[in-house]
Amino acid sequence: MFLTDQLLLNFQRCHRQAFLEAYGDPNARGQVNDFLLKLGQDKQRFQQEVLSDRTVVQPNYPHHDWEAGAVATLDLMRQGTSVIRSGVLLSPKTEQFTLMTTPDLLIRRPGVSALGDWLYVPVDIKLSKRPKLEYQILSAYHAEVLSVVQGTSSEMAWLYLREKGWYSVDLPKVMPQMDELLTRLLDLLAHQVEPEVFIARNRCSMCVWFDHCYAIAQSQNHLSLLPGVTPSRYPVLQAHRLDTAAALAQSDPIQLHTKTGLGREVSSKLVSQAQAFVDDRPVFLTGSLGFCEINPLPTAPIELYFDIEAEPSLNLVYLHGVLLVDRQRKQEQFYPFLAKQPEEESQAWLELVNLFQRYPDAPIFHFCSYEVQTVARLAKLHGAPDRFFESVLPRFFDLHDWVTRTVSLPIESYTLKLIARWVGFEWRNSAANGAQAICWYSEWLETGNTEFLEDIVLYNEDDCRATYQVKDWLAQFLQEQLELNLSPLACGF
Ligand code: SF4
Repeated sequence: MFLTDQLLLNFQRCHRQAFLEAYGDPNARGQVNDFLLKLGQDKQRFQQEVLSDRTVVQPNYPHHDWEAGAVATLDLMRQGTSVIRSGVLLSPKTEQFTLMTTPDLLIRRPGVSALGDWLYVPVDIKLSKRPKLEYQILSAYHAEVLSVVQGTSSEMAWLYLREKGWYSVDLPKVMPQMDELLTRLLDLLAHQVEPEVFIARNRCSMCVWFDHCYAIAQSQNHLSLLPGVTPSRYPVLQAHRLDTAAALAQSDPIQLHTKTGLGREVSSKLVSQAQAFVDDRPVFLTGSLGFCEINPLPTAPIELYFDIEAEPSLNLVYLHGVLLVDRQRKQEQFYPFLAKQPEEESQAWLELVNLFQRYPDAPIFHFCSYEVQTVARLAKLHGAPDRFFESVLPRFFDLHDWVTRTVSLPIESYTLKLIARWVGFEWRNSAANGAQAICWYSEWLETGNTEFLEDIVLYNEDDCRATYQVKDWLAQFLQEQLELNLSPLACGF
């Protein structure tokens, strides 16, 4: 079996993913989504840009015939080719496994090797802005396999990054970490013990095995479906036989904290989260979070609901959507300030500023901190009126922060989508999401087809409307808690 650099990358992200790639049922593997496809295309484009003024030679071999690829690559290396693109390097490890890797480039350098008076160093070209450890570990893997192929140890490996340019990987530091990972991966593959499923939204949501793993997690009522149960907390809970939501819901937060060493606030939130799950109801978070006083969310005659769409690879904010809610007139109006082309970012920004100034008393509701951070950044970049920061930023209310500080809900993640769906909101286009919007904008720029822009604006408006619905639900919920007249004594932890 080939133990590829891709498998090592998968293993770093999730052991189970590496296992499934090696032994999983291919029919259970999902499609690569549009966003990942776009990332792949962006990477290709970036590589073309980087290599546009270089002469590179690619080994010629039948598709997926890796042995032939390794022979063709070695031929080029023996000839002393200056730059080899997408070469294949193989090195037998055990009877069962052969190490295989495909660095983006192999660059010839002066030195002594089994090839002659030269040797090669591996280079990977990454879209990433920073040298992530997982990429450095892959560079060390390239270097390890390359050292066998060329008969001398590789003392150098490079990354070429989007903003930083050349980055030299510290091989003496990274190599031991790579060796340890490789040993564990070989062990996993040799013993074929399927790692337990663990749904961690940030890493699983883009994984091609998500549907397969999620179905298993649901059938097992797996505790990872409970928000707050992280990969590091899970074994602690297991060790105390608290590996079901029901067991956790019956726990006393103070005892949980004392027994497990988990923080007081974490313990309290885990218990209330489990209670919300088990009883299928919202659970108000009291004292442990310092929320003895129930603050009502502001309600004003005019309220603004705000959501941004951006294209990170272009460092561009291309849409500011604002839903204006006039509570007295019972009217709603949606304003999409759109940069149809990247150079129109500043114009869309100024239109947004005008709207904020036209309603100087309106609270501005948004979801997560991205909006407020982006507004502060764009004000510096494109300019803003005097006293903009003092007059506008204090009017921002982050509903994600409000929800997570005040209530546990019977949902699996505190995303706008899941919270809003739980309160009864539905997006008009159920396939839309932030990553998809990035793809749509890219397709609009490429094709000029306005349907992509229309899809984005519709999605953005629905995000604003979802925020509005969440706000109304939360305001009413907090009001009910206030009327229940919870005693400050009940807030003690
Ligand atoms: S869905 Fe999650 S648990 Fe399953 S393989 Fe992918 S990353 Fe791992």
